Amino acid sequence: MSTTASTTASTATSTAPVVSLQGVRRAFGDTEVLRGVDLDIRAGEFVALLGHSGSGKSTMLRILAGLDAGATGGIRTGSEPAVVFQDPRLLPWRSVLDNVVLGLRTKDAREQGRAMLAEVGLAGREDAWPRELSGGQRQRVALARALVREPDLLLLDEPFSALDALTRISAQTLVQDLWQRHLPAVLMVTHDVEEALLLADRVLVVADGKLVHDERLDIERPRARNHPGIVERRV
Ligand code: ADP
Ligand code: MG
Repeated sequence: MSTTASTTASTATSTAPVVSLQGVRRAFGDTEVLRGVDLDIRAGEFVALLGHSGSGKSTMLRILAGLDAGATGGIRTGSEPAVVFQDPRLLPWRSVLDNVVLGLRTKDAREQGRAMLAEVGLAGREDAWPRELSGGQRQRVALARALVREPDLLLLDEPFSALDALTRISAQTLVQDLWQRHLPAVLMVTHDVEEALLLADRVLVVADGKLVHDERLDIERPRARNHPGIVERRV
């Protein structure tokens, strides 16, 4: 690895990976699911991870989240990543706002939680119970809970695949919008190629336990404001 001691602090910060995997392997019994994965994700990148079902996408995401102690190889993460799974995993006996700020220790946590709920379009629903929300709204709560922690790295595991088509479009638009505003690095697992091309700056494909494709997209894509899916239907 080359080091450039003369690099200025700000340049070093902007180019330093927020997460780095080197030669990472993971086996379950005799089955080697990951067989040597090298990956750097840098600040502000929006990376999509594609692959067939069972190819190891969620395994890789859990490793990046620090949730898998069984992997070997070089795994370096910065501050705590935030994760959103396909299922929002809200506590049913806590209000929406309580779910968002659960475990937050900052003094104005509840104010930050309210502001984040407003950003995801849920102002006024702070005191609702999770069961009173639609599936799409619950996933917005999960996004608010992740982003209020101001993570350097946001990990999304097929976050929209349980939503119906219209709800999915507005959720995709929201994620793009939040990414532009908060600029965490994002790694989004998806099996939807269109979704990957719509949202990501960089597309990875995992197959046979390795990253077989890693491509930066230089498309000048229409960002959130011009996105055709921005038309939100509130009924
Ligand atoms: P993907 O998210 O790409 O669909 P996963 O990472 O969930 O794939 O799983 C990859 C492979 O690892 C699958 O064959 C799965 O059955 C296996 N696997 C994942 N987690 C475990 C586990 N905790 N124990 C045993 N096998 C597992
Ligand atoms: Mg998976």
